[in-house]
Formats: sequence, C-alpha cells, structure tokens
Amino acid sequence: MAKILVTGGCGYIGSHTVVDLSDNGFTPISVDDFSNAHKSLTHGISELLGKPLVNHEVNLCDLAATEEVFRQHPDIDAVIHFAAHIYVPESISHPLKYYRNNLNSLINVLDCCGKYGVKNLIFSSSCSVYGNAEELPVTAATPHGEAECSYARTKQMGEHIIRDYCTSNPEFNAVLLRYFNPAGSHETSKIGEAPILENTHLVPIITEVANGHRESMTVFGTDYPTRDGSCIRDFIHVMDLAHAHTKAVEFLLQKKNDKACEVFNLGSGDGVSVLEAIHAFEKVTGIKLNYSLGDRREGDIAAIYADTTDSNERLEWVPKRNIEDIVKSAWDWELAKQDVLGI
Ligand code: UDP
Repeated sequence: MAKILVTGGCGYIGSHTVVDLSDNGFTPISVDDFSNAHKSLTHGISELLGKPLVNHEVNLCDLAATEEVFRQHPDIDAVIHFAAHIYVPESISHPLKYYRNNLNSLINVLDCCGKYGVKNLIFSSSCSVYGNAEELPVTAATPHGEAECSYARTKQMGEHIIRDYCTSNPEFNAVLLRYFNPAGSHETSKIGEAPILENTHLVPIITEVANGHRESMTVFGTDYPTRDGSCIRDFIHVMDLAHAHTKAVEFLLQKKNDKACEVFNLGSGDGVSVLEAIHAFEKVTGIKLNYSLGDRREGDIAAIYADTTDSNERLEWVPKRNIEDIVKSAWDWELAKQDVLGI
C-alpha cells in the first residue's frame, strides 16, 4: 500500500482527502499542528479510517521537525501539501504572516522531498491564481492574473517555486490542483468544515443563518453582469475534491504525466450564482433563509468557473455531486458539528 504524507491532514479538505485515500487503498500519514483545525476532528477521521489517524503535530516552518517526520517515514511515495494559511481578509491585513508561513513551509517540504528521495508532490492551489479572468471558463492554460490578495499571491508563488524545483530535479514530478469553491461535507457528518476563525464563505454562512447562529446574511452585490445580478462561482463538493487528490496520486504513481509539472482545475464546470445557491438550500431543506440584497463586497469578481475537460479526461476525475448535494451535506454537518467538535 502506497504511503502518502498529507500536510494539513486534519483541516477541511485534508481530512476528507485522508479518508478518501484510505478508502482507495492508500496509507495516509498526516502532519497538522492544529493551527487551523480542531483536535476533536481527529476522532471523526479515525472513525472513518477504522483505526487511529497517524498525525504528527509539527509546524512545517520548523525544518528540523519536518525532517524528523520524513526520517520516521522513509517509504513515503507522495506528498499532498495542503497546510497553509487560507483566510483572504487576514492575508490582506497580515501579508507577511502569509508569505512567511505559506512559502517557508512549502520550501521545507520540497527540501525534505529532495533529501529523503520523495519524487511526487500534489499541491493545493486555487482558482484565485487567475485573478479576474477575462475569458470564461478558465482552463489550466489560462495565465495567472493580477492576484486580489496576499493569499492568492502565495499560491501563485508556490506554483512557481514547484515548477522551478521540478526543472532543477528531473526525477521530481508535481501536480498543481487549482480548487474552485469547495463546500459540503462527508455524508456521515463525522467530519466537515470547521475553521478556527470566523467563516467568510457562502455555504457555511447559509447554514449558520439557517440554524440561528447568525441572524441574517447579505447577498453581496445584485448588479453584476450575470443572469440574476449576483456573483457566479463554481461550487465543488469536498468529497469530489478529495477524490481528485487520490486520482492525482494515482496519476503520478502510474507515471501518466506528460510534463514534470501538470496543472488541473478542480471545479464542477458549472457556474452557480449566489442567489441560486441560496434557493437550492431553501429547496432541499424547506427552510426560508433570512437574507437581504446588499452592496458588492470589495475584491469579489463577477464570475468564475472552470473548464474541467483536462481533469475529466487526463485525471479521469468527474465530480458526482451537484449544488443540492453540497448544501444538503453542509446542512447535515451544521446540525452535527457541535456534538462532533465538542464546542
Ligand atoms: N457571498 C455573499 N454573502 C456572504 C458570503 C459570500 O453574497 O455572506 C458571495 C461572495 O460575494 C461571492 C460568493 O458568495 O460572490 C462566494 O464567496 P466565498 O467567500 O464563499 O468564496 P470566494 O469565491 O470569494 O473565494
């Protein structure tokens, strides 16, 4: 069984990926310092694995501690690197925190891959690398645009660092996965989205309004040049997203890559507007949401969605769940999460 080191393995996408890897016959090992994950989530992960999760509580900016993880696991076949600071507003107010953490941790992981002979890396990138793309849908060949925040710039820089590293090390292969808008949770509600800081993403805000954690919500902007005036995004179910990582591991281990560094978009390929997402939630739950129509949010782009032809064909990955599945599973998790997290 191939051993996969998952950095950020207790975070939102990381935890779902750890479970999907294990479901598909891989042995995941997690590195997570719980800087943006609840320790109590490890119980749900372990339950789904059917055995205790192996997690190393290490900050990847600490090179010696990171090396020790690689030393303890000399048989790692691939690394999936999720661990990063991910809050857009915080990245705008604290850019150095983002550059220091997101870049140093990546450099340390690459250093250790080189030193300990790990030849395959999968990197969590983001559709934010495209900036405000002029042509939709965006393909993996669409160039980087002007980044809207430091977080997005760390993802652009991370991609450049990995490309340069692949060039310098002919045996090293990487897949850059650009996520669109991940949402939803595992169908058992044993794991789900549980950020340490306040949620800023649409789907968890919808579920928090529905259960009364928030009084109301605002649709940010209804005068965009879109079919109903609200922004359009490409929501992707976290379990579909997690499975794309398993496919990317198989892609690299089976040497299906044409280039040392390959890029794939991970979205559904369909744009859904903010109002459509709200209405999908109201339809599947029967709950009327308390929302108002408001001004645009600074930094938002009107519309972005993915061309997924490459990921469908070359990665052999096709998402199975739609926006209704997403909001339904997010709602189930909202109802379960206080018990699961013990908060
Ligand atoms: N959004 C909204 N109200 C909210 C939160 C988000 O209207 O309370 C909109 C936001 O303006 C954007 C879309 O939902 O158009 C997705 O935002 P999110 O923060 O989830 O993801 P982003 O695409 O910004 O990474």
